[in-house]
This record gives sequence, C-alpha cells and structure tokens, in this order.
Amino acid sequence: MRILVTGAAGFLGSHLSRYLLAKGHSVIGLDNFITGNIENIKDLFGNDRFSFTKYDVTNYLHVPGKLDAVMHFASPASPIDYLKHPIPTLKVGALGTHKALGLAKDKKAIFMIASTSEVYGDPLINPQHEGYWGNVNPIGPRGVYDEAKRFAEAMTMAYHRYHGVQVRLLRIFNTYGPNMRLEDGRAVPNFMVQALKNRPITVYGDGSQTRSLCYVSDLIEGIYRLLRSGHNGPVNIGNPHEITLLELAQAVKKITGSRSKIVFRPLPTDDPKVRRPDISKARKLLKWEPKVGLEEGLKKTVAYFRSKVK
Ligand code: UDP
Repeated sequence: MRILVTGAAGFLGSHLSRYLLAKGHSVIGLDNFITGNIENIKDLFGNDRFSFTKYDVTNYLHVPGKLDAVMHFASPASPIDYLKHPIPTLKVGALGTHKALGLAKDKKAIFMIASTSEVYGDPLINPQHEGYWGNVNPIGPRGVYDEAKRFAEAMTMAYHRYHGVQVRLLRIFNTYGPNMRLEDGRAVPNFMVQALKNRPITVYGDGSQTRSLCYVSDLIEGIYRLLRSGHNGPVNIGNPHEITLLELAQAVKKITGSRSKIVFRPLPTDDPKVRRPDISKARKLLKWEPKVGLEEGLKKTVAYFRSKVK
C-alpha cells in the first residue's frame, strides 16, 4: 500500500511509519513539528519507500499519485501541549481532518482517524466501551482536544455515510514508550525524567485517579489490524490493566532505582478520575490484545529516557 501518515514525526506517527515500512508499504510522512521531532524519523530517510514533507495539514492537502490509505495522526496529544496550542489543536482535529478526508475520498483510499479515549471525557462508567457517549466539558481547557476529536469522528462518519469513504475510527488510550518527548508533560515522561534526575516525582491530586497504560508496540499492532479490518465503526485500542497514578509513580521510582521523593501537586481542571478501555470489540474483531506488561514496558521505556536525560 501507499500510505499517507500525518503527524509522522510524532510519538505514534514515527512508530507507525517505521512499522508500515517494515511491512513493505510505502509511507509519505507529513508533520509541521509543533510537537513532532525530526529525530524520531531520521533513521527512515535512507529508505526509498519513505518520503517526508514539513507541512501543516490544516492547509489544502495535495499528494500526487495513488494513495491506498490516509492515516490522520497529526495533533498535539499531551494535555500540557494542547493547553499551550489550543487553536492549532482545534484546527488540526477539525480542518485537518476535513482536508485529510477530502484527500482520502479523492484517492478512494481508506481513512483512519487517530481518535482518543478523551472522547469519553471524565467518564461516568468504567471501563469505557465504544457505545458510551462520554462526559465532556466543551468549554473547559481540555475541550479544545476532546471536542476537536469528537468533531473529527463526526466528520469521519459523515464522509463514510454520505460519500461512502472506508473509515477506521481508532480510539487510542494512554500509550507510552520510546520517542515521547522528555518535556511532553504527560505522566510517564514526567515521572521518568524526574526519577532519573532524582528530583521530586510530581503526582497530581492525591494520585487515586486511574489510567491504563499501553506499550507502544502493542498499540501499533492493534492499529495495523484495525486498518486492515474492514470495520467502519469506533474501536478502542489500549491496555485494560488499570492502575492509580500513585502506583505508577511508585513503579517508575522502583524501576529506575531513584532516590526521588513522591510529592503531590494540584489536580488539573477536568482531569478524568478513571480511564480503562473495554477492549472486547478489538479482541473479537481484530483478534488483538496487548502483550507487553507494565513492568516490561516501563523497563524498555526507561532505557530510552536514560539515553536522553543529561
Ligand atoms: N499526572 C501526574 N503527574 C504528572 C503528569 C500527569 O500525576 O507529572 C497525572 C494527570 O493529572 C493524570 C494522569 O497523570 O491524572 C495522566 O496524565 P497524562 O498527562 O499522562 O495524560 P491524560 O491521561 O490526562 O491525557
């Protein structure tokens, strides 16, 4: 397949591009580097099936030649990043999705939107299944991300229903691994950098809020299976193993052998209290489930952060 990946220099975009190339596909990568980093893809430039252009996908999108799939992964994705870039976050989810869908329609390509567990907001049910409509504050600080992704899903389904575009709605839950930015602000990179520098590990709130963390290689395998599935509805991809943030801080401290103290800081506005994917649909439809446990995944991730932390 010849596949366009937007956000190709980002955390997930870079792993996805590498995986697709390894499967023998051709990848055209786009990124405007708001949160992407060329370092993440520099090893791909020698591959003649990989091409890359610095581009803002909220502008008119034109790609010469045939395309079999358009995978729209461009977006700030860390709460810190989308608070810093609220308008680009809204634009890439709304205008960027529209442009990418228009391109997919024109090329008769499969369209995949990288959606998110944030469409469930601060969920009133746990775990979250795909039929749950969510509990989102549209005007809160996280609304710029949550509503942009909800709009993106609505637009994607409209192109499916009205234009017959083949679509894949991928709802990504918390994911971690190499290529996350050190200063990205999410729990795993923050805790890793703090622990490796023996600085205080900052747990927000009392640390009783939960997340369920998926190692990146598991996520990418799930994404690839969804792409090939023929299923046009939303599918949760994530790891259902749920832990509290305090437990995560303790796990990172232990794995790094750090002398850091765990300290408590105010909980950000609208921070979801629980999050855990119901992956029954992915299990059944894609015969997929995550394989990498938290300890193993954190060990692999520490090795990356160790190599980067000065
Ligand atoms: N968090 C924390 N300390 C940090 C960064 C994040 O306790 O230094 C918490 C945050 O409040 C949230 C959880 O970790 O409850 C996951 O946050 P993250 O930014 O990784 O992503 P989210 O799941 O909120 O999108």
